Amino acid sequence: NDDHYAAFNSVHNTETSEPHRPSLVIALESADHVSKGLLINTKVQTYIECFQCGKLRCIYSERTLISDERQEFGLIENEMNYTCDSLLVSEDHILYNKLFVREKITCELPIELAYYSSISHRQGLKQLCYWCGVDGSFADPQENLVAKYKFIFSYCIWCLKNGKNYFCQVEIKTNKKKEVEVTMFNLTIGRKKCKIRSLVLICKK
Ligand SMILES: [Zn+2]
Ligand SMILES: [Zn+2]
Repeated sequence: NDDHYAAFNSVHNTETSEPHRPSLVIALESADHVSKGLLINTKVQTYIECFQCGKLRCIYSERTLISDERQEFGLIENEMNYTCDSLLVSEDHILYNKLFVREKITCELPIELAYYSSISHRQGLKQLCYWCGVDGSFADPQENLVAKYKFIFSYCIWCLKNGKNYFCQVEIKTNKKKEVEVTMFNLTIGRKKCKIRSLVLICKK
């Protein structure tokens, strides 16, 4: 993308003070205070809207919020202007080490996949356009994609006009490059015996 290149180029050719040198900036960015294992769909506790792009971003936490924390989060939601690419709260806030957002997400980036996988077990959440985050005016996915992929993410007519493509995941059909291994195993839940089928995709190079 041209903007990004221009930004990098201007930084690269300018004498800057120590903290702004690209290599240092990269090092600081990777020193994220969120552990990677936390940023997964099962740890999504709630959501917050970005003040700039309007997209909902996931809030991750190790455990469900207690009522005080929910109240505190309500204040963050209503009184602070959260934007992508920033911390949810400052380091001295009581929720700093409890609630996390993906810090390296920018307004240009699509809705997090964790959002989609978390809405299945949460009520009142809407389907959102994967690219821009609007909650309606979705385009119909092409039939051939429906047959081919397990997950096709919602996608609005404006993004379609702007040349975005459907974002799909998990190919259903097998082809020469991929093999599907099906494992059946039994699982006992309570007194019920269930047969579980697990699919493993193997990619051959
Ligand atoms: Zn944003
Ligand atoms: Zn859209």
